[in-house]
Amino acid sequence: MDEGRTRDIRSAVGALEDEMVRFLSDLIAIPSIGPSSGGEGEWDRVEMIEARARAMGLDDIQRYDVDDPSVPSGKRPNLVVWLRKDAGRVADGPRLLMITHTDVVPPGNLKDWTGDPFRARVEDGKVIGRGAEDNGQALTAALFAAKALLDLGLRPSMDVGLVMVADEEVENAKGIGHLVGEGFFREDDLVLVPDHGEPEGRLVDVSEKALAWVRVTTRGRQCHPSMPAKGINAHRAAMRFGVSVDETLHARFGGEDSLFDHPVSSFEPTKKEANVENVNMVPGGDVFYIDCRLLPQYRMADMLAEMRGVADRVEADTGATIALEPVLVDEAAPPTPVDAPIVQRLLEAIREVRGNDPYPGGIGGGTCAAHLRRAGLNAAVWETVANMAHAPDEYAVVANMVGDCKVFAHMFADQA
Ligand SMILES: [Zn+2]
Repeated sequence: MDEGRTRDIRSAVGALEDEMVRFLSDLIAIPSIGPSSGGEGEWDRVEMIEARARAMGLDDIQRYDVDDPSVPSGKRPNLVVWLRKDAGRVADGPRLLMITHTDVVPPGNLKDWTGDPFRARVEDGKVIGRGAEDNGQALTAALFAAKALLDLGLRPSMDVGLVMVADEEVENAKGIGHLVGEGFFREDDLVLVPDHGEPEGRLVDVSEKALAWVRVTTRGRQCHPSMPAKGINAHRAAMRFGVSVDETLHARFGGEDSLFDHPVSSFEPTKKEANVENVNMVPGGDVFYIDCRLLPQYRMADMLAEMRGVADRVEADTGATIALEPVLVDEAAPPTPVDAPIVQRLLEAIREVRGNDPYPGGIGGGTCAAHLRRAGLNAAVWETVANMAHAPDEYAVVANMVGDCKVFAHMFADQA
């Protein structure tokens, strides 16, 4: 893009800073917590966003509301605000979609907050309140990027859809999952999910590991430690299993993927439940957990089968029984290729606006993007954050919001 236009976009966005802070504060004032967390859902907040978008001149709007009798409005709203390539007309060709979510997590213990979580405070260049960073910051930045283009009289180089979904913090079924099911997305869409990032704003996430928490329950026979032959020590069997499975998994799934900061799969024994209360008692039962994060090149089913094989051998050697239960499984999604148009367009916009050196990489946990990748779509995840999501005194850094807004506006306008 020519330098004059880049400068125009930057200053148009810069001039919107105060308005963005006010908008984000207004968002925070409307709690938008899902019913399973004791909230009334996203309705009021989405009605406000829609009204404000219309007032900005962004009046090409679609709703994909989902029935939900557990909230007062009876609906879980999904909102799409369009900025068309050609005013008033749906353009052919790929679309650029920005996916943010309107729900927030509950505040948690109010004693951990300095003030009311739903009354935004602006201090030291930060907006403080529940949902400020997750995901209000990016939702505001995306909306105002569209407004900046409108104010400049610029049209985007393809239809831009600001997709604001419900239910992201809980199960996604009434949000992104519903839109995927409705066939909203197309294979040639360029999709950005600004819902995870790091403080430098350089990591563009294109891949994530599959996650499993496996509970290992070992059963033996309790006895007195002076007569060990009368029992089966479940703790010893569990330790043998733990050491053996650790070696086996690291050897069998030892491949590297340089996209990830931690470039290999990880298998960490973590939580350990208490067994017997006395030292002079051989435990008849033992429970511990393994947190497994598998590179996308591997299959979760293969990992679980390998663990079962180790458990069978330890059972045969010790006489104990070992049950393996995956208490949480987040299947891997195929990575988005680094040369996908959304990744290239984003990297180019970050370089041009920020003058820094962004890089595609992978993260350890799940976002909305995994749903899209599993559905065969390419999606990048990027934003600049202080990593305050879900924390007490959650805040968004105003400079991050305004800086990301410039990148978004640049992406919308890019002719490349
Ligand atoms: Zn989020």
